Amino acid sequence: MRFCSSLLRGLLVALVVAAAGGASASASPPPQERFPVGSSTMQAAQDIARQHWGTDPCGGAVEVVWTALPRLTNAMARWASFGTPYAAPERNVDCRVELNVAASYDVAKLCTVVVHEYGHLAGQPHRDGGDEVMSAVYSKALPACEALAAAVEPPSSRRRGGAAVRSARR
Ligand SMILES: [Zn+2]
Repeated sequence: MRFCSSLLRGLLVALVVAAAGGASASASPPPQERFPVGSSTMQAAQDIARQHWGTDPCGGAVEVVWTALPRLTNAMARWASFGTPYAAPERNVDCRVELNVAASYDVAKLCTVVVHEYGHLAGQPHRDGGDEVMSAVYSKALPACEALAAAVEPPSSRRRGGAAVRSARR
């Protein structure tokens, strides 16, 4: 009786877009083209997530996909667990992170959302206050993700207009 052997499947946890503080830009290519699964930026985000939580959920078998999710949802984590969803993350299986193709992403936000979803897979429920990365609503990027963004996004691509071009011509 003490052990529940039934696998709870299809658990969904959503990270909802904040009213403010999402990624900028509207005319850029869709996020799944800018940040494909397997790309160096996506892999770097997953590395930061593993480092942040000090674990590699599902023994490293985390499937990341771009897919269509409901409006105002950045991403979802899905996993199957024994017992309650967060009780024994080391036994989680079928780990999957679904990123919404309809959400707007920049590098810092994508990375932070990946860290958040990995957090669920590593046994972290939503938390308000304290560790903001597990807040249900995205508000700001993790410092490590800001650093990643600074490394992979040249300043000229963050700012429309010709300031960078003009200075480069001198
Ligand atoms: Zn969440």
